[in-house]
Amino acid sequence: MENNNKSKIGQRFHGKVAIITASTQGIGFGIAQRLGLEGASLVISSRKQKNVDEAAEKLRAQGIEVLAIVCHVSNPQQRKNLIDKTVQRYGKIDVLVSNAATNPTVDNLLQTPDSVLDKQWEINVKASILLLKDAAPHLQKGSSVVIISSIAGFNPPAAMAMYGVTKTALFGLTKALASEMAPNTRVNCVAPGFVPTHFASFLTNNDDTRKELEEKTMLKRLGTTEDMAAATAFLASDDASYITGETLVVAGGMPSRL
Ligand code: NAP
Repeated sequence: MENNNKSKIGQRFHGKVAIITASTQGIGFGIAQRLGLEGASLVISSRKQKNVDEAAEKLRAQGIEVLAIVCHVSNPQQRKNLIDKTVQRYGKIDVLVSNAATNPTVDNLLQTPDSVLDKQWEINVKASILLLKDAAPHLQKGSSVVIISSIAGFNPPAAMAMYGVTKTALFGLTKALASEMAPNTRVNCVAPGFVPTHFASFLTNNDDTRKELEEKTMLKRLGTTEDMAAATAFLASDDASYITGETLVVAGGMPSRL
């Protein structure tokens, strides 16, 4: 999204504070950029200091207010630090986007080592719960949580089976948290289709696989980080003030559910 888009989009997040995990590239960065261009003060984070610094520079160059913090989402001290530093700087939290995930294996479920099953559960599901536990006392009335799941959660493909299962779990987690955190905080979920990021490059860099994925969509193209950011911003904003516990599939019409 270019600099001059700031004047073309709304300012739904003016005066709001938004934390986005895993936000130094790809979908997380796209979401951060969109919320920032719409007026949010941002807290971006990922595992590596260099990535955090570079992403913050890019956002500041667009006139966006950014606090940049290293946070590996499965590290309890780093999660606590993320929330503490946010509250020290901005005094509150209005939006939290839980975006981090790992997909370290192409093994079948029954071949996946115990430690890898644990790691996927830890990062893809449990870390969202624990981060929200730290954030909850600071979430404002009217605040919003968006969890990033995946189209793979509806029908976990063999080559990413446990990843898909953790993404299925996020649909349930969204419902459970929405009920628990109502009425002050809404909790929704975005299920992206395939987006050519670093994460998906093992699929999208192969021309044949990429074409196959494009053909699976009704719109005959892969998704963009901007597509995911627009949907996330909608759910996070007051435009979605009567929506909670829902999953929005952003996958160009790929098969998901009725
Ligand atoms: P990406 O472009 O590869 O970016 C991943 C980001 O996450 C980077 O900023 C990385 O920075 C950070 N990160 C990785 N592990 C982390 C951890 N444990 N704690 C904190 N930060 C971490 O990935 P992406 O495609 O945007 O994926 C983002 C989300 O979208 C994931 O939840 C993924 O499951 C979901 N999704 C993606 C697709 C797709 O096709 N791309 C489809 C469906 C769903 P560092 O290396 O500095 O940590």
